[in-house]
Amino acid sequence: MQETIILNGAKMWISNAPFAQVAVVWAKDEAGEVHGLIVERGMEGFSTPTTHGKWSLRASATGELVFDNVKVPKKNMLPNVKGMKGPLGCLTKARYGIAWGVIGAAMDCYDTALRYSQERIQFGKPIGAFQLQQKKLAEMITEITKAQLLNWRLGVLMNEGKVTPQQVSMAKRNSCEIATNICRDARQILGGMGITGEYPVMRHMMNLESVITYEGTHDIHLLITGMDITGFNAFK
Ligand SMILES: Cc1cc2nc3c(=O)[nH]c(=O)nc-3n(C[C@H](O)[C@H](O)[C@H](O)COP(=O)(O)OP(=O)(O)OC[C@H]3O[C@@H](n4cnc5c(N)ncnc54)[C@H](O)[C@@H]3O)c2cc1C
Repeated sequence: MQETIILNGAKMWISNAPFAQVAVVWAKDEAGEVHGLIVERGMEGFSTPTTHGKWSLRASATGELVFDNVKVPKKNMLPNVKGMKGPLGCLTKARYGIAWGVIGAAMDCYDTALRYSQERIQFGKPIGAFQLQQKKLAEMITEITKAQLLNWRLGVLMNEGKVTPQQVSMAKRNSCEIATNICRDARQILGGMGITGEYPVMRHMMNLESVITYEGTHDIHLLITGMDITGFNAFK
């Protein structure tokens, strides 16, 4: 008879859970050691209830993974990886991708606001001709450029095998911060039009509210940088 592992527990907030045919699950054994397991749809005791009522990332299905005495064959255990190195290795790569992705949202908001400011006439001239609106636009492009340079430098370090997870935390957090601020400023430049679906700004803003939380929350990435520079753990 094939040896099995009995899996119990649940994890909320899993992207694509309602559709996934397989789930990669990082679970602790009785000794507290972390292992990677492939859990397949159809295994008895494995269910994936959908999360309803989201106002963010509505184009992406989210759900829960629930394991109720699931018998996972031992051959489904990922070889050559034990401990947190496996999940953390995946997270560092995903967080680096996010650091770039949200800059795309920021660029779209900046571009939308810039074009709008050149066309919208108030008090006899384009709103882009007023200093207050120029300040917002100039700061947006400055922050986008700084974030791109940070990410580019980490890409170079990654290619050289030198990047640290702590550096990636700084980049993920910084990109989310500047993108969120840029979205808010772009929304204001668009005035009332900014809250409509005619422009992409509110959609980006709503989606960024998820990105600022997933793949490590904004707070936690700050604490990672804090620990990196002080040597003190402020998580607990
Ligand atoms: C749309 C969406 C999709 C997701 N997709 C996935 C996925 O595919 N796979 C996956 O594994 N996860 C996924 N997540 C989960 C996501 O990573 C978690 O929501 C996130 O890690 C935060 O966990 P939590 O929601 O339990 O918040 P909590 O841990 O309850 O945190 C709540 C607040 O408390 C703060 N906090 C918590 N602990 C501390 C501390 N020690 N010190 C200071 N402040 C603290 C947090 O920063 C946050 O502000 C997804 C989430 C969302 C919203």
